[in-house]
Amino acid sequence: MQNQPAILGGEPTRPAGIPAWPIQEEDVRAAFESAFASGDWGRYHGTAVPALIQKVSEHVDCEFVTPCCSGTTAIELGLRGLNVKPGDEVIMSAYDFRGNFHAVLAVGAIPMLVDVRSDDFQISVEQVASAISDKTKAILASHLHGGGVEMPELRKLADQTDVGLLEDACQCSGTTVAGRPAGTWGDAGVWSFGGTKMMTSGQGGVVFTNNGQVNQRIRLVQNRHNIAYPLSELQATVLLPQLDLLSERNEKREAAREQIIASLQEYVWLRPIPMRVPDSTPGTYKIGFQFNQQENGLTRRQWVAAMRAEGVAFDVGFEALHQCHSRRRFQQLGSLDNADIAHQTVVCLHHPVLLNDDIELNLIYEAVARVRNSASEIRDAFESGDLKDVEQPNLQL
Ligand SMILES: *Cc1c(COP(=O)(O)O)cnc(C)c1O
Repeated sequence: MQNQPAILGGEPTRPAGIPAWPIQEEDVRAAFESAFASGDWGRYHGTAVPALIQKVSEHVDCEFVTPCCSGTTAIELGLRGLNVKPGDEVIMSAYDFRGNFHAVLAVGAIPMLVDVRSDDFQISVEQVASAISDKTKAILASHLHGGGVEMPELRKLADQTDVGLLEDACQCSGTTVAGRPAGTWGDAGVWSFGGTKMMTSGQGGVVFTNNGQVNQRIRLVQNRHNIAYPLSELQATVLLPQLDLLSERNEKREAAREQIIASLQEYVWLRPIPMRVPDSTPGTYKIGFQFNQQENGLTRRQWVAAMRAEGVAFDVGFEALHQCHSRRRFQQLGSLDNADIAHQTVVCLHHPVLLNDDIELNLIYEAVARVRNSASEIRDAFESGDLKDVEQPNLQL
């Protein structure tokens, strides 16, 4: 029974199960202890928040850095920094993080959804160009699932049309896009420090810019005598050592990503989302793949359930924004066909396993192979009702 898949009762390929996040880091423990010793953990002001601002500023080479309470809030602050006002249109991908849609609504603006490219599911610059009108105030571009948006072209378009550009680098903090730190092609860029992200304080985010006017507007919202959407001293304390490790960790994750993708090459029904932008390093927050149900035999959700039972953290991707919101809340350009395909086919491998050793990485291949070899039995078990086709918890992160 050694090759019985875990979902049918076999021993999981990774008996330790889905790897935990965050990992226990000695430097983080030391940071906790020093904040405890100084008492800064319980104060409005200390040394950690200013130190974090300084370090992020150096990391992304931006003059103005505003930490805040989440990546979603950072997006909202960024939109306000771009002077987006009620009634304005913000062009964004129909396949994006759901919180971004709500951040646009939160400032009273209207999301103008455009389609993604067919090969890598990133926002299409041609579609953005077609969607620009005199109502457009800003473009919101997110690098997703290890792919990248063509930022040099988008930057040119934004300059020619005098439209603001906000760059969401929450899934690729610390990487390079077209030769620049991810987030710095935009008039403002954003990272998240949410609980599943590469650098985490449970909640948290940051918005950065080199544009003094954009920064001025962000400050007006954030500094109301007190700070409106704060990141605390305690949060900054645990982020500092993680920022020191970020580049090294990103390199390690990227090498692991390549190794996994290479090992899965024979499986044409699991096509990795490519990084198409030259001179870029792919984000490794979630490694995206396009899953072909016809060629695999299992439905996407059945396959994800089987992989999770093996201890491998695959999830289904985002829901396309036009599929899960009322038509009254957005505008759209054309029929969004590629976003529909992304909505139906994307699966993502969560990053914690990427810091594990080669043996653990090889187990991912073994788990994929094992589920593949038992696809018809697994499908039969679902179809006969022995297994419930449960909705996977989709955290939409
Ligand atoms: C995680 C994430 C955010 C922001 O997340 P928060 O949980 O609010 O910090 C924004 N955009 C993308 C693409 C993300 O993955």
